Amino acid sequence: MPFTSSDSAAPFSPALGRESLRPDCASCFALCCTALGFSRNADFAIDKPAGTPCKNLASDFSCTIHESLRPRGFRGCTVFDCFGAGQNVSQNLFQGISWRADSAKATNLFQSFNVVRQLHEMLWYLAEATSRTFDPDVSYQVNELRMTIESAMAETQRVLSLNLGDLHARVRSVLMDVSEEVRASYLATGDDHLDAAIVPGADLMGKNMRSRSLCGADLRGAYLIGADLRDCDLSGADLLGADLRDARLEGADLSRTLYLAQAQLNAAQGDAHTRLPSDFSRPPHWPKNS
Ligand code: SF4
Repeated sequence: MPFTSSDSAAPFSPALGRESLRPDCASCFALCCTALGFSRNADFAIDKPAGTPCKNLASDFSCTIHESLRPRGFRGCTVFDCFGAGQNVSQNLFQGISWRADSAKATNLFQSFNVVRQLHEMLWYLAEATSRTFDPDVSYQVNELRMTIESAMAETQRVLSLNLGDLHARVRSVLMDVSEEVRASYLATGDDHLDAAIVPGADLMGKNMRSRSLCGADLRGAYLIGADLRDCDLSGADLLGADLRDARLEGADLSRTLYLAQAQLNAAQGDAHTRLPSDFSRPPHWPKNS
């Protein structure tokens, strides 16, 4: 049964059916370590062109420095989340044949991964939209989009010929409708807890917002790098695409945020007291006891 974030009796799980959108690295041909490129910066210690294997990749597609990625300067690898696209492309679209086993297919494999990752990301948010809306028309639109995306992933040629721009626009539109519906349930009380700086895309880098109520805030695309969000209540806050790198989330309540992604948590700082939706993992680098 769908619920809104104002339903305090509901379990802390904003979206059902997202199990297949979680990475299963053991079933993937290390596509994030090959298809994607990165430049040497604070998150990556080396330059790596797209479509080439990382020098730290082992022959069995594991990472030779997995246990020491952060101290070795590869923090970006610990943050990345493919939304389960890796195993889908490896095992379903390419039927378990790796880029090592058939190098002629490598380019298509890598391009497919780049597209399917975006499709899985859309499915991640649409699954949450389904769970959060009470509007049957919106629910119908969401489910139509989910079916469109799922059927597009049936074969490689369809994946590679997709009009991603159009699909992104349609998904964005319906996600915003659900966001307004959910956030309205927090803002309808006449509460003026949100100031003028709390807007989509806001520059809130390093801002001290400790212990504030940010319920129902529209923080879509906001820059929250290094922001102090300790002990904040972010119930019903739209965090779609918000940059949470090094944001302080110790003691914060994110159990009913809207459009949260695991990669955002992985990039932030939190602790054992940070409240998360039940289908999220506490990042391993967060202190266990604090
Ligand atoms: S450092 Fe390891 S996890 Fe990161 S891209 Fe290279 S092989 Fe992959």
